[in-house]
Amino acid sequence: MRTIEGRGDRVVVIGAGLAGLSAALHLAGRGRAVTVVERQPWPGGRAGRLDINGYRIDTGPTVLTMPDIIDETFAAVGQSRSGRLELLPLDPAYRAMFADGSALDVHTDAERMATAIEEFAGFGQAAGYRRLREWLTRLYRIEFDGFIAANFDSPLSLLTPQLARLAAIGGFRKWDRMVKRHLSDPRLQRVFTFQSLYAGVAPRDALAVYAVIAYMDTIAGVFFPRGGVRALPDALAKAAADAGVQFCYDATVTGLDRAGGRVSAVRTDRLDPIACDAVVLTTELPQTYELLGRAPRRPVRLRAAPSAVVAHLGCRRVASDTAHHTILFGESWDQTFTDIIRDGQLMRDPSLLVTRPTASDPALAPNGRDLLYVLAPAPNLDRGRVDWDSAAARYVDDLIGDVAARLLPGLPDDATVLDVVTPADWARQGMAAGSPFALAHTFGQTGPFRPANMVRGVDNAVLAGSSTVPGVGVPTTLISGRLAADRITGPGAGRATRMATHHDMGAGLT
Ligand SMILES: Cc1cc2nc3c(=O)[nH]c(=O)nc-3n(C[C@H](O)[C@H](O)[C@H](O)COP(=O)(O)OP(=O)(O)OC[C@H]3O[C@@H](n4cnc5c(N)ncnc54)[C@H](O)[C@@H]3O)c2cc1C
Repeated sequence: MRTIEGRGDRVVVIGAGLAGLSAALHLAGRGRAVTVVERQPWPGGRAGRLDINGYRIDTGPTVLTMPDIIDETFAAVGQSRSGRLELLPLDPAYRAMFADGSALDVHTDAERMATAIEEFAGFGQAAGYRRLREWLTRLYRIEFDGFIAANFDSPLSLLTPQLARLAAIGGFRKWDRMVKRHLSDPRLQRVFTFQSLYAGVAPRDALAVYAVIAYMDTIAGVFFPRGGVRALPDALAKAAADAGVQFCYDATVTGLDRAGGRVSAVRTDRLDPIACDAVVLTTELPQTYELLGRAPRRPVRLRAAPSAVVAHLGCRRVASDTAHHTILFGESWDQTFTDIIRDGQLMRDPSLLVTRPTASDPALAPNGRDLLYVLAPAPNLDRGRVDWDSAAARYVDDLIGDVAARLLPGLPDDATVLDVVTPADWARQGMAAGSPFALAHTFGQTGPFRPANMVRGVDNAVLAGSSTVPGVGVPTTLISGRLAADRITGPGAGRATRMATHHDMGAGLT
């Protein structure tokens, strides 16, 4: 594995999002002197926060999976999650509600899920689920250490025996076809393929290797941090600070000083230049290239993932059995992806994620009130032709109407719109193509074909975060921070322990 050239004792990490925090922890755990520079007053980045009238809003990720990767990040500095962060397991992980009025609770436990599927769609589908679960688990085991959590020096580094194993179990076929082999009920097919949207690709176009996301949230489980998702970056930042990492908040990086092929110092808008031996950039890709003064050499343009509209609502307490996460599937499915990914228009028959964090932690809203987060996938600004500043208010009214018709009657009379974020707002926050989900995980933007975490022509700069390997998402960006640290120090000492942990976990799942 290639590493940076020369010394790497003093490292500056740009950005205190999850990737930056993870890089800082792994580097500090390996004895490096680390300074994190963050333009916001707090850690978290896209795992953001907003407090309005007693509502404690999470503005970014809501579906948290793979707690063992979070544990590994604390373990990088010899600490443990317990006492720092309480993760509540969600049961059901999701409630899936369909246009025909039927509903299915997605359980992590194999027996409970098989029973729920048998009641929902019959014995044959339950047997298909068991086979699918086995396949997803095998996929995860083959893929995790060799592909997701690995640094690639070139596409040739893919050529390992594991690649043949991955191909043999169908990893390079299409995701939806692999799921259809086991499940014939179209509603169940959706439950195990909708996650392809997280990768920014329609299930019919996504490689089956990405079905590992369905493994993460339907098998490994979904969790919620008490205090809201912000509790995760807060706890990681605290652990890092306790391990000696210096944090400079409210400081925007404006330039990098170069000496030969090396970055020698990081300049900000308010501090003296910070000298460094190496730098980790977790900024959005265009900004990263601007800071480094380099553009990617790629034959085709990078493709951004679709975007999303997120509406944050406050309302009177809803029925107590309303799930933490509900997916409201529209009638149409293939068309939905065509609308937002190919045609760049609003979903005509929307499928929505409705999250109610107050189901798990009522303290996130004032007494007697609930907090709702409604996420509607939407075209990014490269594809879409929506004038969000004029369309947003009406679109949010429509979303509230949809949620009322399909889940929470009475919502329009009672809901207070606390905040709305559209693709235009994501763009104003500096996100390329107005998408908070970085680059789509198409084949040409996957693994060794994704923008690499080392930069040609700069000897001591490493990238981390959702635009580089392995990709978008909470677990993946935490891994990207570790991969960046490995590029500076060589593989970390914790690897043997980590592999053992994964294999134990995998063994417990079948
Ligand atoms: C609405 C939404 C929903 C999501 N849902 C999920 C989900 O359910 N599950 C899931 O796993 N993932 C989800 N994600 C994706 C996940 O949140 C991201 O992939 C991940 O948080 C990105 O982390 P990062 O560290 O790569 O980037 P960021 O969080 O963007 O971190 C980069 C940091 O760098 C800072 N920065 C940028 N430029 C500068 C500069 N010049 N100087 C100083 N600091 C700078 C930024 O302020 C930021 O803090 C969601 C994201 C969003 C926005």
